[in-house]
Parts: sequence; structure tokens; C-alpha cells
Amino acid sequence: MPELPDVESFRRVLNTCCRGRRVRRVEVRDAGVLRGVTAKRLRREVEGQRLGRPRRHGKLLVVPIGDGPALVWHFGMTGELLSASADDPPATHDRVVLTFDDERQLRYRDQRKLQGIRLSPNPRTLERLLDELGPDALDMTRPDFLDLLTRHRGAVKGVLMDQSLIAGLGNLLSDEILWRARVAPRRPARDLDDAEARHIFTAMRRVLATATRDGCVPPRRTWLTGRRDDAEPECPRCGARLRSSRVSGRRTVWCENCQH
Ligand SMILES: [Zn+2]
Repeated sequence: MPELPDVESFRRVLNTCCRGRRVRRVEVRDAGVLRGVTAKRLRREVEGQRLGRPRRHGKLLVVPIGDGPALVWHFGMTGELLSASADDPPATHDRVVLTFDDERQLRYRDQRKLQGIRLSPNPRTLERLLDELGPDALDMTRPDFLDLLTRHRGAVKGVLMDQSLIAGLGNLLSDEILWRARVAPRRPARDLDDAEARHIFTAMRRVLATATRDGCVPPRRTWLTGRRDDAEPECPRCGARLRSSRVSGRRTVWCENCQH
């Protein structure tokens, strides 16, 4: 599932391959990924316009088109953006294809279609949409982060994944961060002591730095993420058998030996 690092890699694709280019044609192969906009309107607003500088907030990717409107991507569980040549055969799950003047293409591929593409008509509507999100996880300062934890009584894992509090962390990142910080996912956020909260913040910064460089949460064997889908997963740090259970509505993996 795309989290902050994946969306950051899609932003880079847009920035290097599509920014400043004029869209000649918008092909909606499956309108099931359009949210609040028809295929006809999308074509009318986007065809003939140049894509502006893409920016990311949490898991949302925003691309200005022309002077006022913006395309907003939410990748759901399976969405991705790819740069392709017009000669490349389309994949089954290519839902929307933008073709530029030079025949390069931007393809939105999404198997499950849980989210998709919105069109924000003007900067005001865009700000309203972004206001529903907390600060981006990469922009969050340590004092703000520590303050956030002390204000919430819910499980720390749920706080990390709540996009209205802090934007960009999903299931894999949250588990990885808590494992690094040696904090159990069910601990109430406001019960954490100062050292634990600081460890979580430091782990978040480090995990995000590496994952953003890699364009995904890397499934390295030295990371929890690289073990969690094993048949009998073991903690890469202490070798104990990892626990797996639902926490805050998601399958959560942690080490009872290391995380308290
Ligand atoms: Zn362990």
C-alpha cells in the first residue's frame, strides 16, 4: 500500500517526466478511479494544459494544471504512477492515461480502485482538502510530535496512522517505527514517557529518510518489514518469534521481547 515514501517516488516521476509538459490527450480507460469528476470534465480541464510543479502532502499528490485547478491523487491500496512511452502496451490496470505532445505518457495504474483522481477546481477547494490532514510526517518538528502524543489517549499505533493528526504514515511504516523505537503498538500514546516519545520521533525520521530514498518501505531482512510476511517470522534484532494481531484495525506485527 502506497505510503509517504511511495507517493514521494510518484512525485519524482511527475517532476522529472511531466512537469511543464502540455497534455495532448486524456484517456479514461476506467472511470471507476475518478472521484467527484466525470471523464468528460477531466478531459475538458486537462487537455491542452501544462502540468505544474507537483507537491506531496502525506499520501496525497497534487499537480497544478494551468492557472487554477489541480489534479489530486490518492493512491488507495494499489495505485501507482508510471512514465511510459506511447508504444508500451497498456497494462490491464492502467485506468487513466495522459499523453503529452512528445508522445510520452503518464499512466495511473490501480488494481483495486479504492481511491483515485480528484479535480480540485481552485486553490480554495484544494486548501480545504489539505486542511483535513495533519502536518506532513517529514515536516513535523520534535516538539510538535511530542505534544501530539501527549494529547491522545488511543493506541500509539492508531495515532501514528491517523492522517488527520500526522499525514503520510501507513501500516508498514508505523510498525517499523514502533519496532525501531522498542515501543509496543497498543500502548496509549499519552502514557509514553519522554524518552519513549523521543525514540519514536527519531525512528520516524530515520525510517522515512531511508524509505524515501528507496521509494518504498524497503523489505530488508534487517527491518521488520522484511520479515513480517515470513511463514514463521522472527525479530531481526533478537530472534524471538514476532507477534501478529489486529491493532487499530490493521494487521500489526511486533516483537514482545523487544517492544514494551
Ligand atoms: Zn525482538
